[in-house]
Amino acid sequence: MKKTSFFLSLLLFMSILQGCQDTLPLESNHAPNKETYIDAKTSEWERFTTPTIVMTPFKTLEPQEWGEQVTGVKTRIKTDNKKIALTFDACGGDYGSGYDEELISFLIEENIPATLFINQRWIMANQEIFLELANHPNFQIENHGTEHLPLSVNGGEAWGIQATTSPEEVYEEVMQNHETVQALVGKKMTLFRSGTAYYDEVAVKIVQSLGYEVVNYDILGDAGATYTSEQVKNALLQAKPGSIALLHMNQPQSGTAEGVKKAIPLLREQGFEFVTLEGEILE
Ligand SMILES: [Zn+2]
Repeated sequence: MKKTSFFLSLLLFMSILQGCQDTLPLESNHAPNKETYIDAKTSEWERFTTPTIVMTPFKTLEPQEWGEQVTGVKTRIKTDNKKIALTFDACGGDYGSGYDEELISFLIEENIPATLFINQRWIMANQEIFLELANHPNFQIENHGTEHLPLSVNGGEAWGIQATTSPEEVYEEVMQNHETVQALVGKKMTLFRSGTAYYDEVAVKIVQSLGYEVVNYDILGDAGATYTSEQVKNALLQAKPGSIALLHMNQPQSGTAEGVKKAIPLLREQGFEFVTLEGEILE
């Protein structure tokens, strides 16, 4: 039994590393129970139990809200201090798997910490870069979903993307990427932002029951990487103490990097400190 799961896990790990498939790296019928994974950082075998979840209570709840700021979604750091968190999504997929190297290099040169919400599709397309970022002390890696879906227990749509349609699909959207990141870098993520940042409030409750906080933003930093650099700069200059800015690190042709470069010195002049969301109380 032990040997079987060893080889299954080895196959899983190899397929993740090779990235030779665009399907999910985990068995599609994977049971959310006990699985054995390799800790890629220490090369030690680690056994963990995926949080089990009783779906029944969620099945009887009828969602009343749909959007980016539904009940339970955090949008700010609870503080009166001049702190701002830059958060960068990496969405993945056919048009979303680029890497804004200019942006990330600037953040590293300027010693600006940031929280990176990363989708599993982006990880599969950029595995070496993902490992570098995950091991960099300035960056906090968090969960941007598996297939980049809006999160609902009964369907819906945002920006033309169909949402999940059941509590089980909500679970899969969060936990498949959770398990992939844990297998690759041994990190348990605790913050989630869905693809499109849309939810219903029952889906948010499920995510919370998995040990996560759902985090959106109070500053729309680049509007899905469509803003010019000037618009990005102006958006970031709206910062208030505790602001969370949503930007993207997967569209190098966008105005995001230039806008961030323009805004950061001005925010520093205003006395802002850049932080990740790690250890912060969110509201
Ligand atoms: Zn995204």
